[in-house]
Amino acid sequence: MRELSDEPTRQVTYAHQIPTPFPGATVDVNTQTKLTHLECSICGEHHDPETVQTTCTACGRAIVARYDLEQAKRTFTLESLGGRVSSMWRYEELMPIRNAQHIITLGEGMTSLLATPRLGALIGATNLWVKDEGSNPTGTFKARGISAALSKAVELGITEVGMPTAGNAGSATAAYAARAGITAHVAMPSDTPPAMMHEVHTYGASLQLIDGLISDAGAWITKQSEAHGWFPMATLKEPYRVEGKKTMGFELWEQFNGTLPDVILYPTGGGTGLIGMWKAFDELEAMGLIGPQRPRMIVVQAEGCAPIVRAFTTGAARAEPWEHASTIAPGIRVPAAFADDLILHAIRESNGDAIAVTDTAIQTAISDITRTEGIDACPEGAATFAGLQNLIAERRVDPDAQIILFNTGTGLKHPELRSTS
Ligand SMILES: *Cc1c(COP(=O)(O)O)cnc(C)c1O
Ligand SMILES: [Zn+2]
Repeated sequence: MRELSDEPTRQVTYAHQIPTPFPGATVDVNTQTKLTHLECSICGEHHDPETVQTTCTACGRAIVARYDLEQAKRTFTLESLGGRVSSMWRYEELMPIRNAQHIITLGEGMTSLLATPRLGALIGATNLWVKDEGSNPTGTFKARGISAALSKAVELGITEVGMPTAGNAGSATAAYAARAGITAHVAMPSDTPPAMMHEVHTYGASLQLIDGLISDAGAWITKQSEAHGWFPMATLKEPYRVEGKKTMGFELWEQFNGTLPDVILYPTGGGTGLIGMWKAFDELEAMGLIGPQRPRMIVVQAEGCAPIVRAFTTGAARAEPWEHASTIAPGIRVPAAFADDLILHAIRESNGDAIAVTDTAIQTAISDITRTEGIDACPEGAATFAGLQNLIAERRVDPDAQIILFNTGTGLKHPELRSTS
């Protein structure tokens, strides 16, 4: 076994090397990544991480990044992380980028984890916390996934990408493509909140409005990508967005000083964040940094679009597409998740749960969160509070458990939902 001191070049971290707060695009230095290969989440087939990959060539399903965790655990410790860059790139051993020059960052991650006793008191929750993702670049946690995916795309030489989106992934893609100096094409439903359309234009990406839902935008991007050679970046049809979103799991662990909460409520669309956090917990456990105890993973969806809730409730292995999907929370207006089985797996493995809430309850929850705690809730984040209220009332969640709500974005993109009096 090699000593740490045998690896002087691997010891170089951006935090120490670079005098700016974030890893720069100017420094040609290897990261400490322990990326080994890509693996199919369903059939186990291995794929080469040094070439461009989308889905499994054997079975067509989602592929995920694998790392040498034995190597990673020698430097990935609470103590060493503490001194690193204040962004999700601090978790570099378990991020997929090989050269720091390729990291396309705007400082995503390391968001606030806030105790919210006043909000908890409204529903009898005595140990309630909000992970507030609204402070990310472009105002949502989409920044994490897109930063990781576009960085890897840049590392593999990609210069033109296509992104189907319910809104926020389009904003993030446009911003990070600008930062990377590459071209982005975004397609989103024509009834997406205007703020998200304006962001895409403002960051200089092309925008195609689609009369339909994110699934229709996906079909358009697939077709255009084939015709024009764009790299398509739909949720989980590209392996690295999950790697960015999994950092939410590392952050919870780090912010709770090496422990995990009892319950996590997550507003679920394509499920990247939930699948990502579950993967982060797998990696932490394999490195011996947590025990087998896991948070209960709870999916929250809107009553107007709840395919995962329906599949969980009926005990189905896969989720059927939802007809006529409709909700005021665009990020969870996803009628069919590509990795529905991975989402259902995480819920069931964790003894979790799934619940749907009405748009009216979401609206009330926005007001509850903002007025009691000063946290600017997006409708998706507010849905988690509405869901928790019902789960506690139905005794499906212990009110004294340590509970995390994910506020996945800022409320500022939703003037249509804000109080006017
Ligand atoms: C995309 C999005 C979600 C859903 O995230 P997934 O990880 O794709 O399930 C939730 N909230 C907001 C604000 C989003 O933009
Ligand atoms: Zn496969």
